[in-house]
Amino acid sequence: MTGQVAVGLEQPHIVIVGSGFAGFHCAWRLSASLRRHRARATITMISPIDYLLYTPLLPEVAGGVIDPRLVAIPLADTLPRVRLVRGYVDAVDIAARTLAFRDQEATTRQLGWDRLVLTPGSITRLHDIPGLADNARGLKSIAQALYLRDHILEQFELARADTDPDRAAARRTVVVVGSSYSGTELIGQLCAMAQTAARRFGFAPEDLRLILVERSGRMMPEIGPTLAARAERQLRGRGVQIRTGVTLTNVAPDHVDLSDGTRIGTCTVAWVAGVSASPLIHTLGLDTLHGRLRVEPDLHVPDTTGVFAAGDAAAVPDLTTSGDITAPTAQHAIRQGAVLADNVMATLTGAAARPYRHRNLGTVVDLGPGFAVANPLNVQLSGHLAKAVTRGYHLYAIPRAGNRWAVGMAYLADLMFSRQLVSLGLAPSSIARFAASETFEFADNQSARCNPTTNRPPNERTKTMTPQQQSDSADNWPLPAEPKVLVFDVNETLIDFESMTPLFERVLGDGRALREWLGHLIMYSMTATLSGLYVDYFTLGPGLLKMVGDIHGVTISEKDAALIKEGMLTMPAHPDVKKGLTLLRDKGFRLVTLTNSPPTPGGPTPLEHAGLKEFFEDHQYSIEACRVYKPAAAVYHYVAQEEGVPPSSCMMVAAHVWDTVGAQAAGYSSALITRPGNAPLHVPGLPQPNVIVADLEALGHELVGPGVNA
Ligand SMILES: Cc1cc2nc3c(=O)[nH]c(=O)nc-3n(C[C@H](O)[C@H](O)[C@H](O)COP(=O)(O)OP(=O)(O)OC[C@H]3O[C@@H](n4cnc5c(N)ncnc54)[C@H](O)[C@@H]3O)c2cc1C
Repeated sequence: MTGQVAVGLEQPHIVIVGSGFAGFHCAWRLSASLRRHRARATITMISPIDYLLYTPLLPEVAGGVIDPRLVAIPLADTLPRVRLVRGYVDAVDIAARTLAFRDQEATTRQLGWDRLVLTPGSITRLHDIPGLADNARGLKSIAQALYLRDHILEQFELARADTDPDRAAARRTVVVVGSSYSGTELIGQLCAMAQTAARRFGFAPEDLRLILVERSGRMMPEIGPTLAARAERQLRGRGVQIRTGVTLTNVAPDHVDLSDGTRIGTCTVAWVAGVSASPLIHTLGLDTLHGRLRVEPDLHVPDTTGVFAAGDAAAVPDLTTSGDITAPTAQHAIRQGAVLADNVMATLTGAAARPYRHRNLGTVVDLGPGFAVANPLNVQLSGHLAKAVTRGYHLYAIPRAGNRWAVGMAYLADLMFSRQLVSLGLAPSSIARFAASETFEFADNQSARCNPTTNRPPNERTKTMTPQQQSDSADNWPLPAEPKVLVFDVNETLIDFESMTPLFERVLGDGRALREWLGHLIMYSMTATLSGLYVDYFTLGPGLLKMVGDIHGVTISEKDAALIKEGMLTMPAHPDVKKGLTLLRDKGFRLVTLTNSPPTPGGPTPLEHAGLKEFFEDHQYSIEACRVYKPAAAVYHYVAQEEGVPPSSCMMVAAHVWDTVGAQAAGYSSALITRPGNAPLHVPGLPQPNVIVADLEALGHELVGPGVNA
């Protein structure tokens, strides 16, 4: 964004849509491949979430065995050389080589690409059944898994106090629709959780009802009749009712109607009856097969140049069976991701593309305490051995050591202790709805409400990323969103620390001791935070003056020590500040401050002294609220939260690199103001400021205001 930061993308731009199994494994392999070949290309991954969701463990999240955090593999950790953009792609212009996406605040932006990898996966397939979308929930996201767990526990709790016996029975009844491996795993896990909960709430075993509904005549076709029969026996033995050959005809808040005319009272319906390709696929105007985007065996999309697709969204020919397409499984998506990477790479190096070919290695299905079925390499296993194979497989397949360890610990805890039954209430019903959770149609999106631009017509909300935004910063630091809130550091950034030089000249005989004292102030504030302690700046400052005095062999009087606090409160503004702030305010930015100094209740604040209060009014924040000093991430998150915006909407404006680094690590963008005595820090691995300017006036000229097309 500044003359000092690189401009324009001069290397091929590969954009991957979706951070699921196919997209993740493509990005992973592609970035390694680029390094190995010393090829230059920018990889951008665009996804509404900042993690890879390890879906096979969602039933265990719903069943309360695994903490939801553990199934989210953070992209920033695992794909350090990939630019990550949070957004939901709504449209792709194949001819113009651009795509349009919505960010978290529903602002539409455009992104250009040279190679496009489409891996947006699938959504739950909903049938035209009255009440289904409103009253049932799926299992495709963390929100949905968490919701199911919380909701069942809440319903049990309510059942205890409900005086209407029919409604109480409905609250104790769980219906799962769909008996593929994921539906069967879900009912197995919910059954185990419900039985533990029932003991806690004092219900008799027969008071609980868990019902699995399957339209076709058979369960788990993926695993073969022998293992499916064993799984069915196991579930029935635990009291699960299995109703095959029927489906739902109506879903109400307190009951469902089945196609055989029966009515089941229930307040919990989980719909896990198949998937269909992401809605994005149907907007492309390209050829589809069974609703999935048709691709060649090498995953290239026909009639396009440089466009590839794979995973659940694509109809990938299965070369191991004639005329079929590969099943929508993670097993295929992972391996297709690797082929995508190789074939995108081939377009850069001129190598030949290779076709996708993979023979099914088997399926593992965890059915709760002490039981699983699995057919690795066609060996039929059930019971404890299958359980060990299933859990061992997941621990092997989770692509991040930290998550793997944590899941291993959760498994251990599951063996040693009873399930932890808590209803966190973090996933309200609205967020777990199919549309909100799977296609990000947030009717009640908090952050969207906070964005002043979201009430404008859609065309006014469209922004194109500037070349600078798309450009490769020094170390591939994640691409920041266009800032809306400018968060100003106060000391030295807005007000002039050098004004205290005469004090240091007088008491220490050398004005340069000011910088020495300031260095100590920064170091000891960070020392306090890293040690878990807190003393405020106005206590730290005089103490440090005495310490610097001791170092210089000068005794500092109490009176002089007290003067430092007065000096810190009464510094004047830098001469460029008022003009710069006026410019930025006029461009529509929200201006706030975040200072390491404590508030001064009753007395005038440093900003009032400096005549700057009018720019900030009620938007002056102190780290005192968190009792940790900058650059701790907590304080930057605190400000974003108070302002009702995500960190990516905030830009830290500071004269100190430690502040810009901390803010960027917390998800902000940053601007460095190179006040005298301050300069950029060019160290690989640390984020570079997005803007580097000499003063606030220059910043005002540099930034384009919110709502203005860049
Ligand atoms: C509960 C459950 C259990 C499962 N268990 C197993 C199992 O045990 N074994 C197995 O092999 N398979 C299993 N699967 C299937 C497996 O999860 C999928 O086949 C696999 O995730 C498909 O990978 P993908 O990359 O195509 O899509 P996904 O993994 O679904 O990823 C799609 C990504 O694209 C993003 N996205 C979607 N739309 C857009 C858009 N418009 N713009 C930008 N980003 C978008 C999504 O947020 C997501 O990050 C299970 C699925 C579920 C739901």
